[in-house]
Amino acid sequence: MRNYSFNAPRQIVFGWGRRQEIGPLAAEFGRRAFLVSGSRTLESRGVIDELVAHLQSAGVDVLGFMVASREPQVADVDQLVGEFRSLAPATDDLVIAVGGGSTIDLAKAAAALATNRQGKSVEDFLEGVGRGLKITAPPLPLIALPTTAGTGSEATKNSVISSNSENADAHDAAAPHRTAPYKKSLRSELMVPRLVVVDPELTVSVPPRTTAFTGMDAITQLIESYISRRAAPIPQSLCLHGLKLSIPALPVAVKDGSSREAREAMSHAALLSGMALANSGLGFAHGVAAALGVTCNVPHGLACAVMLPAALRVNREVSSRQLAELESLFDAGSSDVSVGRGSSPNVLAAADRFIARIDQLCAAVGIPTRLRDVGVPREQLDVLVPGSRGNSMSGNPRDVSDVELREILERLW
Ligand SMILES: [Zn+2]
Repeated sequence: MRNYSFNAPRQIVFGWGRRQEIGPLAAEFGRRAFLVSGSRTLESRGVIDELVAHLQSAGVDVLGFMVASREPQVADVDQLVGEFRSLAPATDDLVIAVGGGSTIDLAKAAAALATNRQGKSVEDFLEGVGRGLKITAPPLPLIALPTTAGTGSEATKNSVISSNSENADAHDAAAPHRTAPYKKSLRSELMVPRLVVVDPELTVSVPPRTTAFTGMDAITQLIESYISRRAAPIPQSLCLHGLKLSIPALPVAVKDGSSREAREAMSHAALLSGMALANSGLGFAHGVAAALGVTCNVPHGLACAVMLPAALRVNREVSSRQLAELESLFDAGSSDVSVGRGSSPNVLAAADRFIARIDQLCAAVGIPTRLRDVGVPREQLDVLVPGSRGNSMSGNPRDVSDVELREILERLW
C-alpha cells in the first residue's frame, strides 16, 4: 500500500437540530466569538439570533460580522482581517462561520490572517499569484456551521479567493501588471476548522436551484477525488459512501426541500467530499470550473456540474476501473468489475453506464449541457484554457493538452 497522510477536522458534530449544542461546544474554545454570517435568509429566520442566545447562555460573548454573500474577493478578506485585528484577538477568541462555502472560506481566511501578520494582503499568501508567504502561526480556532450541502469547505484546509481586475488595481497600484482576474487558494493544514457542526436542518430553506448546484459540487468533488492521480485509501472510502448516498438523494432534495432523509444524505455527502478533496485533490471539472467562475461568473457548483460529464469522458479510458467501481455501487451486475484489470470490455461498459447515470442526474436536477446556456460567450473559450491550469487540474488522472482542452470546450459550447 502507498504511503499517505490524512488531515481532517478534529471534531465533527453531525445531526438534525444539533446547532443548538453550539454554546457548550464553543465554550471549549474560548470566551469571545467572532460570528461571521453571510445570508439574509438566516437572519430573517432567526437562526443567527438563536445561535447567539445559545452562545451567550454558555458564557461566550458574541461579536457579529455580516459579510457579502458572494464568492470571497481579496478585498473582502482584507477588510474582515482588518476588523478582526482591530479587536486585538487573543488566545481565548474564536471564529464561528455560519453560511455557505463562500462565507466559510472567507471566515477561514480571516481567522488565519488575524494571527499571521506578515504581508499586507491575503494576496501575498495566495498560491500562484502571491509573494509565497506561508501561514505559520496557528489561526484563531474556527467552528464551521455549513448552511448549504455542497462545497465541503467546513472540512478543508483551503479558502478559494478571487480577484477581478478592478480589485487588483485598487488594492495595489504598484502592481499594474496583475490585471488578469484569478481564483486561487490560501492553503495550510493549520486552516482546517477545529470543529464542524453539520446540522442538515439548516439546509431546508435552500431553494431548489442552489440545492442542485451545491449538491452537484459535492458529487463532482467525490468523483474527482476518487479518480484523482493523488487518490488515497481513506478519501476513496469516503467517496464511495458519499456517492452511494448523494446520487439518489439529490433529485429528491431538489424536488422536495423538506425531505429530512435527502437533506441529511446531502449534508453528510458534502462533508465527506470536503475531507476527500482536502486529501486527494480534484481534477478536470474543477480546473475548468475555476476559469468559468473567474471569466464568466458562473456559480461554482453550476460550473462543476456542467463540466462533470465532459470530465468523465476525458478520463473514461484511464479511469475506467474506478468508474466501473462507482457504477457497482448502484448496479449489482457491475460488481465483478472491481477486481478487473485495465480496460476490459466489461469494465469499459460499466464505466459507460456510470457516465450515463451522471448524464441522467444532471438532467434530472436541471443542469444545462452547453456552455452557452450558462452564460459563456464563445469568444471567451480561448481565455478559459490558461485559466483552467490551477491546482485542481493537476490532480486529473491524465494530462489534457491545451489543444484538446480547447476542442472539448468548443464541442461543449
Ligand atoms: Zn467544488
